[in-house]
Amino acid sequence: MKNILLICISLVLLSCKGNAQKSDKKESSAYKVTKTEAEWKAQLTPIEYYVLREEGTERAFTSPLNSNYKEGTYVCKACNTPLFKSEHKFDSGTGWPSFDREIKDNVAFSSGGSEYYGIEEHCAVCGGHLGHVFNDGPKSTTGKRHCINGVALKFIPKNE
Ligand SMILES: [Zn+2]
Repeated sequence: MKNILLICISLVLLSCKGNAQKSDKKESSAYKVTKTEAEWKAQLTPIEYYVLREEGTERAFTSPLNSNYKEGTYVCKACNTPLFKSEHKFDSGTGWPSFDREIKDNVAFSSGGSEYYGIEEHCAVCGGHLGHVFNDGPKSTTGKRHCINGVALKFIPKNE
């Protein structure tokens, strides 16, 4: 009798779990790549998770990509979508990897923000937070400064 009761309880619990998962998927369908927070935590290092999933900011001058001027592409650390190109990188002196433009349609921007605090930008495929864009970039090109967290990026050298 006790066993039957246990089976009944676990069936109820299982069906609740099934429903919850269905509704989660519906809500996060805005991005092509969606994972649960637990899955992201398992995939990313703590600092990558803090920046990409919690909109954190890495400490200035900590990213090795800051002084990287090799030819290649910067892709999303979370989902490998190409986000920035080496030819658009410049030394802003801020301590964060900086670009004068993004790879169009692969980077999305949040509404709101201001010129002072910048407009938030994130990967258009997985929604991972990248950094902010400001209007004080190189005047000779776009005038934009995409101030990006190095831990949100992975560099792929041109010939690999
Ligand atoms: Zn991504």
